Amino acid sequence: MIIDSHLHLNKTDDETDFSQAFFRLVGVLDTNHVDKAVIIADDIKNGNCVDTWHALAITNDSDRFFVIGSPNILDINQSDWDFFEDNLANKKFIGLKLFPGHEPFYPTDPRCTQVYELAEKYNVPVMFHTGINTGDTECAKYNDPKYIVDIANKYPNVNFVIAHYFWPKLDYCFEITSVVPNIYYDTSAMADQEVIDMSGGIDKIKNIIVKTLVAKPRSVMFGSDHDMCVQSDHIKLIEGLDISEKTKSDIMSRNFLDCFGL
Ligand SMILES: [Zn+2]
Repeated sequence: MIIDSHLHLNKTDDETDFSQAFFRLVGVLDTNHVDKAVIIADDIKNGNCVDTWHALAITNDSDRFFVIGSPNILDINQSDWDFFEDNLANKKFIGLKLFPGHEPFYPTDPRCTQVYELAEKYNVPVMFHTGINTGDTECAKYNDPKYIVDIANKYPNVNFVIAHYFWPKLDYCFEITSVVPNIYYDTSAMADQEVIDMSGGIDKIKNIIVKTLVAKPRSVMFGSDHDMCVQSDHIKLIEGLDISEKTKSDIMSRNFLDCFGL
């Protein structure tokens, strides 16, 4: 079984609504023999990357898709919080995502507290987008994993997922997070050529994943960051690791299911 634990639903300029993008996404999953996928919503409403509300509507209880909700903690009202809580309670959301740096806030910002408390109450993980962005290295200061370590220690019952391994500073991310048991990693964007080039090459990427598995054997889950990145490249990345077939199989689905309590 293959589960992509991290992808997005984006409209192209030619697509007038998300149903066309969704149809395209299903085609990619079928081509790559991916059984299930997690759609990570964007925290900006009504953009070209699907927001939490539209993600919920488009997946419409399909058992092929999971949704991770993304509250915009800088622009959120009580009815939004109620929406997030209701959909955690009825299990329509399997987790929550924060992107410090997309907006200027740190994981330790008091405005994030409600996110962590909801995650603890409903026993779901919190995902953090980490690292630099194309053309924007400044944003990484907001999602430095040192803050995620602080939060993970403060909420030991909550699992935290680091997306993009704080690229390009892979070693730094490994050093400070590999000793924290409730921090997990997805492989999203790690097979992207820009990420590979800026992070020290493909061998460096593979090494850090293998080192992470040695430190915490069940902590890595397959994610692609489709459609910013190419899903098949990420499958090839896992297939090309010098690890047992069992460990590869765990990365492709079981580690995700365990981390998310599914
Ligand atoms: Zn992403």
